[in-house]
Amino acid sequence: MQYLVVSDIHANLEAFEAVLAAAPACDHVLVLGDLVGYGADPNAVVDRVRAFAAATVIRGNHDKVAAGLEPAAGFNHLARRAVEWTQAALTPANRDWIAALPPGPVLVDELIEMCHGSPFDEDVYLFDDMDARQAFRASRRPLCLFGHTHVPTVFMDGEALKFVGPPHGPRYDVTMADGARYVVNCGAVGQPRDGDPRAAYGLVDTAARTISVLRVRYDVGAAQAKILAAGLPEVLAQRLGTGR
Ligand code: ZN
Repeated sequence: MQYLVVSDIHANLEAFEAVLAAAPACDHVLVLGDLVGYGADPNAVVDRVRAFAAATVIRGNHDKVAAGLEPAAGFNHLARRAVEWTQAALTPANRDWIAALPPGPVLVDELIEMCHGSPFDEDVYLFDDMDARQAFRASRRPLCLFGHTHVPTVFMDGEALKFVGPPHGPRYDVTMADGARYVVNCGAVGQPRDGDPRAAYGLVDTAARTISVLRVRYDVGAAQAKILAAGLPEVLAQRLGTGR
């Protein structure tokens, strides 16, 4: 089984289309939440995800607020302005569809579990070894895929817990070691924050037991122009250029 892994698309249609064009044909798509918020194309991105023939989709924190399930109280002013814009832009049908998305974690198959933030709390960020330890305790599968931080990250729990990448490069491949467990963020499609502005996504091959983190260039200028034309905060356009 070959899975395409996409997270934190954040209404960036240009980045999302570039990922879908670059990725090989997969059996199933895993969408790890935050489809909307920050970018200018929430409906087009949701429509694209709804059109997948085989996908498992969970909600992210921005999706919850955009769908009206939670107040924007915990958001900084940029995220709040973006989510208020998104609430007004979403069609009622897409808003209802987002509101019905399940929270993570979700067990995908015998190998994979997926969540937005962490397997113990959908809104918690996994940044460091301490966070990863908690995630490994909560995870019920050898591979736990997460998003939310927008930073590609691979933690491995074998003989000892270690951070194993990924470094910057066109792609990063991990073959899962026997008996080891992994907690992996394949990066953000629509708003990378690791200093690399290219869209990030993942591939998991369950037969080969490989996890790949890949990057693809997209038309950043087009996504930025749409954000500015929509009247969204200028910094949301600027940060796409630096990947921060
Ligand atoms: Zn996000």
